[in-house]
Amino acid sequence: MKSYETLINGKAVSSESTFEVKNPATGEVIGLAPNSTASEVEEAIATAKQAQKTWAAKPDQERKDILMQVAKVLEDNTPYLAEWITKEQGKPMSGPGSMFEMQACVGWTQVPASLDLPVETVFEDETRKDEMYRKPIGVVGAIAPWNWPLMIAIWQIIPALRAGNTVVVKPSEYTPIGTLEMVRLMNTVLPAGVLNSVSGDGKVGAQLVESKDVDKIMFTGSTSTGRRIIEASRGNMARLTLECGGNDPAIILPGTDVASKAGDLFWGAFLNMGQTCACAKRLYVHEDDFDATVAALNAVADQSPMGNGMEEGNVLGPIQNKMQYDKVVNLVEDAKANGATILRGGSPMEGNGYFYPITLISDVDNGVRIVDEEQFGPVLPIVKYKTVEEAIVKANDSETGLGASVWGDDLDQASQVAAQIVAGTVWINQHGAIHPMVPFGGVKDSGYGVEFGVEGLKAVTQPQVISVKKAAVTA
Ligand code: NAD
Repeated sequence: MKSYETLINGKAVSSESTFEVKNPATGEVIGLAPNSTASEVEEAIATAKQAQKTWAAKPDQERKDILMQVAKVLEDNTPYLAEWITKEQGKPMSGPGSMFEMQACVGWTQVPASLDLPVETVFEDETRKDEMYRKPIGVVGAIAPWNWPLMIAIWQIIPALRAGNTVVVKPSEYTPIGTLEMVRLMNTVLPAGVLNSVSGDGKVGAQLVESKDVDKIMFTGSTSTGRRIIEASRGNMARLTLECGGNDPAIILPGTDVASKAGDLFWGAFLNMGQTCACAKRLYVHEDDFDATVAALNAVADQSPMGNGMEEGNVLGPIQNKMQYDKVVNLVEDAKANGATILRGGSPMEGNGYFYPITLISDVDNGVRIVDEEQFGPVLPIVKYKTVEEAIVKANDSETGLGASVWGDDLDQASQVAAQIVAGTVWINQHGAIHPMVPFGGVKDSGYGVEFGVEGLKAVTQPQVISVKKAAVTA
């Protein structure tokens, strides 16, 4: 069985200890990933620190050009890396799957590579001039989850590099190989030491967040790990961007033509089997529109084959890991025990792999775990409401606030409702429609800081003001 390697200072590093990586569609071991030792992690951080000054000193245009070359490498290696995503993560090659994830990696590289942060004159009068510069922060630790492993790593790595930082990336222990291979390929055009990888579980991540030589952490993952990272930042004052879990509500306004929006609504909830930070995770529907909504969702589900993502035609894959699979099973069983009606699915599928059917649940409400907790799986609870005010109160009744959506034919009414939802993004007639130019981030327990666009780039810089006293004007 092949052992994959991390990359430190442009060189492949094979650790003595490795762990097995499994295909969630088959249970098969597909490769061995390194358990980076503490000294390897230290070396990766020291290398990044060493390389940072030279990287930051390069002319802006040179860094942009190199990142455009990185985009080309990603584009040229799309089939190879997409295959790793499918084998490791489960999402199919086709549909909104791993080829789509790789296209996003290319786009989220090209866009930050083309952005600028010009010097801003923040104040000027006859006595002084104050200019704000955007400086790199230093070494960025990028800690990624398993749901969109390559795309989320790219969201962290590319803006950091664009701004003149260097990076040590740690992929999730569930999906390490695709990222290690991506970092290896990116290093064919990046200067040595600018982008380094380490691999292993939360202990390796903890070493990164606790290091005195890591200046900023970009983290995407669960709220509980986010809290641990906040605690660790007491020690080193590392700047943090935390994209943690969400439990996004979607409200369908009364009388909405749901049939015409069925595809967007379905994929808004079930993209990557619901294992997407900003998926619709609870649906609020007026009681008169309930039947039409269920029919619309069923119609799309019926035409969406599920299976091994390497087989053409499948657009839905397995749940990525046993921990998440068990969580989904338990939440559905809990809903059943609390009087829920299972409209579709609701029981694990037979055979190998962590396959769980698209599941629609009704006769549940806020207060039941499947509504209150993030399921991160292919299960959508549908809550009936009588008034829009009631739906807004229930939508906001959550400790998280990543995304939300409002669906309606009257855009003014939908906008008015959207303004009352507490979330980092509220989409109208779409859900999870992220874009590399549009800032994205959560409120409440969903974390803090934003990624993407100019605001995202600012978040991997630190401002420096240069304040000049003007010579006194003599009469
Ligand atoms: P997780 O928090 O368990 O792991 C995320 C990463 O953190 C992994 O690489 C893990 O090894 C590492 N880690 C674990 N303990 C650590 C520690 N003490 N210090 C540093 N790093 C540590 O999350 P997960 O299970 O991989 O991902 C699923 C969760 O992520 C869901 O809750 C989901 O909503 C959330 N998520 C959020 C977004 C977003 O943008 N907001 C995107 C994707 C996933």
